[in-house]
Amino acid sequence: MNAAQIAALIENPPPQYHPRPQGWDDDDQVRDECGVFGVMGHPEAAALIYLGLYSLQHRGQEGAGIVCAEEGILSAHRGMGLVSDVFRPHKLARVKGTHGIGHVRYSTFGSNNLKNVQPLVVDYARGSMAVGHNGNLVNAGILREQLEESGAIFQSTTDSEVIVHRISRSQSETFTDCVIDALREVIGAYSILVMNGEEIVAARDPYGFRPLWLGKLDGCYVIASETCALDIIDAERVREIEPGEVVTINRNGIVSSQNPFEKKVPKQCIFEYIYVSRPDSDIFGASVDEVRKRMGRELAKLAPVEADVVMAVPDSSNPAALGYSHESGIPFDMGIIRNHYVGRTFIEPEQGIRDFGVKIKLNPSRTAIKDKRIVLVDDSIVRGTTARKIVKLLRNHGAKEIHFRVSSPEIINSCHYGIDTSNPSRLIAHNMTVEEIRDYLGVDSLAYLPIDALVSATGSPPEHFCLGCFNNKYPTQIPSDFSFRTPKNRHVDHSTELLGQ
Ligand code: AMP
Repeated sequence: MNAAQIAALIENPPPQYHPRPQGWDDDDQVRDECGVFGVMGHPEAAALIYLGLYSLQHRGQEGAGIVCAEEGILSAHRGMGLVSDVFRPHKLARVKGTHGIGHVRYSTFGSNNLKNVQPLVVDYARGSMAVGHNGNLVNAGILREQLEESGAIFQSTTDSEVIVHRISRSQSETFTDCVIDALREVIGAYSILVMNGEEIVAARDPYGFRPLWLGKLDGCYVIASETCALDIIDAERVREIEPGEVVTINRNGIVSSQNPFEKKVPKQCIFEYIYVSRPDSDIFGASVDEVRKRMGRELAKLAPVEADVVMAVPDSSNPAALGYSHESGIPFDMGIIRNHYVGRTFIEPEQGIRDFGVKIKLNPSRTAIKDKRIVLVDDSIVRGTTARKIVKLLRNHGAKEIHFRVSSPEIINSCHYGIDTSNPSRLIAHNMTVEEIRDYLGVDSLAYLPIDALVSATGSPPEHFCLGCFNNKYPTQIPSDFSFRTPKNRHVDHSTELLGQ
């Protein structure tokens, strides 16, 4: 390979090096957030964390990492890609210990190369520590600026690294108090696991934006973003960690559970119910599957239509479409089939045959569609690109009418707490009316689930949710409230992405 070929390879990495694993239309993808999993005091800690992360894969597919501690010494393995790509058996075997934490990542802040894959691991004056964070800190930029001015050197571009620096600078006596000191100054969303050679500290921000669960297995405590990760290892569900709660676990069990921060009315992210969490999980006190079905039922009551069949945009919309079908009495059919095996090794064809977009992942089942009046249910429309392509596919396969039903309200603004809904200018409902969107999608009718019906489907009071992306009301200050200088000293590291394989 000559120099020009190497340069071209670095500039345009082949698909197997592509950091976005979905394999199609990456630019059209909105990105998820992250998942965390921790185990304390189990001889198979690394294997359990691997399984937990496997169950949390839907929360992040760009990178994964596990850090374990054996006799006080931390060992880590992190890499780009899916959990099963990153952890081959020989790599998992290297991560030894009886307690540890793991993380799956989809970048919502910072770029997506290896140096940003979590858990972040550092050595500092008191030993080693590792941090795995789900959520987004809105004042990370300003905190980073302050830390850099006082001499701190950052190794990643993640918001989470400011927490690491703040822990290491804390003068408090116990590890937990150092973590609490660090978290006191951050604003935004965190469900976070921090470990050293002895303990794991699990904390959830005072608004409880992201879920976090405590479980128990063979007498040992485990912590997970969602209950589906407890189920995979047959762990008992103990309880959800409360908003604002900080739990410290050592090998002898829970050492302390405290609520050291100013108490807030919870503002849980309602998008966890709409799209992010797995339907077989319970979060924020309810079953995700049940809530999604109720959303579909509400939608059927508020936006009924005469049709032959109800279909979901699989998989995240399946429960809502079933709810619509149950309420309306219109039969549900699997009209669109999803290929579950679109992974990192998908080979992108030449430009000439590339315009097959959505078909790589979703393909209509012809007999279910031809000459049918279809209610098509999706959980959300973000930029409108997926919906438009699916509608075109259904039309090409002879759909007679398409009535699009969305089991969430119009997304009019960005999320600042960990869902990458990107720039408002790319959000279709930020720029168009519902009628304009209907026309753009090419559907016969379009209806969204209104905010109050969405909230009522959750069974929790409206004040317990952050609805910022729907109503532009954010519970905290947001990044534009902080004045930043443009970072002038950020280098670009191409090598880590390639080495990360
Ligand atoms: P878009 O094509 O941008 O309108 O994206 C909407 C589609 O992406 C819907 O089918 C959703 O199920 C799905 N979706 C919604 N939110 C997210 C997210 N945060 N990450 C990935 N996909 C999402």
